[in-house]
Amino acid sequence: MNPSAPPPNVDFIRERVQADAHDGTFNGRVQTRFPPEPNGYLHIGHAKAICLNFGLAEEFGGVCNLRMDDTNPMAEDESFVTGIEEDIRWLGFTWPAPTKYASSAFEQLYIWAEELVTKGLAYVDDLDAETISAQRGTFSEPGHDSPFRSRSIEENLDLFRRMRAGEFVDSEKVLRAKIDMAHANPVLRDPVMYRIRHVAHHQTGDAWCIYPTYDWAHGQTDAIEGVTHSICTLEFDVRRPLYDWYLDHLDLPGDRPQQIEFARLKLTHTMMSKRIFLKLVGEGLVDGWDDPRMPTLRGMRRLGYPAAAIRAFCAHVGVAKNYSVNEIELLEHFVRDELNRTATRRMAVLNPIRVVIENYPDDQVEWLEAINNPEDPSQGTRKVPFSKVLYIESEDFMQDPPKQFYRLAPGREVRLRYAYLITCAGVIKDADGQVVELRCTYDPATAGGATPDGRKVKSTIHWVSAPHAVAGEVRLYGRLFTEAYPDGEEGRDPFDFLNPDSVIAVGGAKLEPALADAPGGALVQFERMGYFCVDARSPMVFHRTVGLKDEWANIQKRAQKPVPKAK
Ligand code: ATP
Ligand code: MG
Repeated sequence: MNPSAPPPNVDFIRERVQADAHDGTFNGRVQTRFPPEPNGYLHIGHAKAICLNFGLAEEFGGVCNLRMDDTNPMAEDESFVTGIEEDIRWLGFTWPAPTKYASSAFEQLYIWAEELVTKGLAYVDDLDAETISAQRGTFSEPGHDSPFRSRSIEENLDLFRRMRAGEFVDSEKVLRAKIDMAHANPVLRDPVMYRIRHVAHHQTGDAWCIYPTYDWAHGQTDAIEGVTHSICTLEFDVRRPLYDWYLDHLDLPGDRPQQIEFARLKLTHTMMSKRIFLKLVGEGLVDGWDDPRMPTLRGMRRLGYPAAAIRAFCAHVGVAKNYSVNEIELLEHFVRDELNRTATRRMAVLNPIRVVIENYPDDQVEWLEAINNPEDPSQGTRKVPFSKVLYIESEDFMQDPPKQFYRLAPGREVRLRYAYLITCAGVIKDADGQVVELRCTYDPATAGGATPDGRKVKSTIHWVSAPHAVAGEVRLYGRLFTEAYPDGEEGRDPFDFLNPDSVIAVGGAKLEPALADAPGGALVQFERMGYFCVDARSPMVFHRTVGLKDEWANIQKRAQKPVPKAK
């Protein structure tokens, strides 16, 4: 788009980029990046950063690279690299090939590190990590100098080169920036730049046994790439002076990137930390990173969240400078809104009870016309078989109904969706007194659910023809964490609030025959039961993506706030 036109959804970051474009800062160039560490798969919080960075590049005619911040080979893996790429593409974004890597800059970073050593601005320290951290001081107390801080430039250069050459064991020495151990900001108290790790790296193999810290790599990698607006989350604002310090003391190839921080996305009833995910997956508390209960993009994809709904949600919540938590019901609202418009309607009975229509001819089958999506006439219609023996939802029948129950009961008439009106004439029970079958009669004059005599029936229920039904498994999901804020208080362990009933598998569902062979990932609405997604791996397993009830609208109503309209 034209940078002089106001961008949509103006927020403080867009205002800033707009002003830079207007003032000719960076010669009007806009370049962003999305910089994940390949130590896990992406989650919905990352989606917010992705939409922001790729969105800015798109709106301002700029470039957004994908860059792996791969400075810590101990935690990283190539499978996460490909998984991250796959997730970003799924979300609907592309980047200029090839994917970039912080590790491609290892040699340049090393050269710059030697430059700092030569300027007397970095030194090799023999203290171990614990001692370094103990000597760093606190916000109210200054740190203490390491006894190795006064090494000569020559000695430092020699030791640093020998670190690279592999002469020392892991953690035996580190390289630290020589800034100020009494600096008001503890981040600037001689931060570590390099550590020794004799491990192979997924991109550089055995080329290195010293690895840069994230802090030492981040700003310089941005500078090498030509990033103009280096957007990151709020907790990095205390580190910005350090990144600036590094950039100030180096001979940069081009513009100095401008870091801007925004508040990370948080959602109720979830946790967004790879540490938590690794524990969930590692201890088998969920069925892998793509478990439909996981707030990962692959989990949400498997559950049936459309990428468009996630993008609309991210656009709606926008970016802000202060922390807030969004209700998970808001995300579901966007999912439901998208699926309402796109998902094909089908009938499925999750907890079936048999219904025999006594006055319906034994071998007759009628193929009735049913609408595929009332919101989208272009989806057309399909034929649904109707016969003498049907299944209905067992909860749609009550032997002794209370006043407000309008569905099927002895002597009561209801409408079968797309079919006829039926009346319950009798009930068959097993030896334990459990209802196992309903005997009903139908009114042939009510084809298509019409009532030519104008009589009223209060309830329409869904059904499936028993001889035509296909069997399926349905999985119903609850919140992963029972508490809205699982880590809400200091010292609280989110795992204490893991919901033991977050998934309920219903084995004996009966589905209309159009659902046979539904492909993995197919999204449907089971009428009256919710939106469902066919599992990507197991055929005839349906995940309930989201229920039909708009809980967000209810929350808003209680708070007397307007319900947002999805775009
Ligand atoms: P974790 O702390 O769980 O390891 P991370 O933030 O370190 O996650 P990265 O791979 O470093 O994960 O994140 C890549 C980018 O995504 C960073 O720029 C980060 O700021 C952004 N990001 C991460 N989590 C969120 C979030 N919840 N909301 C918005 N942006 C996020
Ligand atoms: Mg990180």
